[in-house]
Amino acid sequence: ASAPVTITVTGAAGQIGYALLFRIASGAMLGPDVPVKLNLLEIPQAAQAAEGTVLELMDCAFPLVTGLEVFDDPFKAFDGANIAMLVGSRPRGPGMERADLLSANGGIFSVQGKALNAGAADDLKVVVVGNPANTNALIAASHAKDIPASRFTALTRLDHDRALAQLSAKTGTPVSEIKRLTIWGNHSATQYPDISHATVAGRPAIELVDQQWLADEYIPRVAKRGAEIISVRGGSSAASAANAALEHMRSWVQGTSDGDWTSMAVPSDGSYGVPEGLVSSFPVTTANGDYSIVPNLEISEFSRARIDASVAELESERSAVAELGLL
Ligand code: NDP
Repeated sequence: ASAPVTITVTGAAGQIGYALLFRIASGAMLGPDVPVKLNLLEIPQAAQAAEGTVLELMDCAFPLVTGLEVFDDPFKAFDGANIAMLVGSRPRGPGMERADLLSANGGIFSVQGKALNAGAADDLKVVVVGNPANTNALIAASHAKDIPASRFTALTRLDHDRALAQLSAKTGTPVSEIKRLTIWGNHSATQYPDISHATVAGRPAIELVDQQWLADEYIPRVAKRGAEIISVRGGSSAASAANAALEHMRSWVQGTSDGDWTSMAVPSDGSYGVPEGLVSSFPVTTANGDYSIVPNLEISEFSRARIDASVAELESERSAVAELGLL
């Protein structure tokens, strides 16, 4: 058997954490042959609830689990981490301004960046789930001077999967027959779900749907799906967000399939006019534990305007955290 992979999950006692940990432990993320050591990080007030989750994880007697521990110190929790899934973040409270939110999360993610820098394994892979995810990833990366920024990514896979599901429903085609969808930009309402390069059962998606449906229904539906879930379910998406985080890491580790790609928010290398360093969502392929931004796609005027709007939002988040001294 291979050596155990150390996975640190933050916000472990939250609802996404609860939906995520059991599936990682069962082998759904890294496969049925890879043993896992799970480090759960929580703030002190929630550490006891995380201990409860550990008791349940024990009771599953998962054969792949070689270690289970709860921490409230990030330096201990990230020691030796191969994979870090940063789920915990500070939600916006009543009366909280955007700057308060950015600064509360800046405090969390700058410390976590330092702790990762101090102790994580050389092959570290990070996905940030906690919002504002893209900017939190930027903050963590900027405090981890010895780790390549490219190892810090943020989750747009849930947006990607929502976009697949909506196109599948509209065209009556199974999700498995839809390829090359892209989410661009920020994990926020400005994100741009792009079907212009997508194929549906081998045919260009844009031939199957009309432009008005795309602009007036599809794009807003995908971008506002989180709010729809809250209003219907009475709580924010948890199992689907956990699934997406798991699939993000699974793709990164195991690779995308030939002829397809996925969406990940990654530090820009300047591709597609996205300023270098911004953590923005792109189409990416993955192989051998690395990802690359899909090059040379043609960007229509319609797409350009939407990508630019989301990237402008990311730039304003970056200036706000820079002003707060968080970078
Ligand atoms: P959830 O587990 O529901 O959500 C966690 C984070 O994921 C939130 O920031 C949430 O953003 C975000 N998120 C990103 N994408 C999605 C999506 N598509 N749908 C839903 N959420 C999404 O939050 P809980 O409040 O249940 O749990 C958070 C836990 O984190 C608590 O136990 C808290 O103690 C812990 N925490 C841990 C820290 C640490 O380990 N150092 C630091 C801070 C908190 P949004 O708020 O926008 O929904």
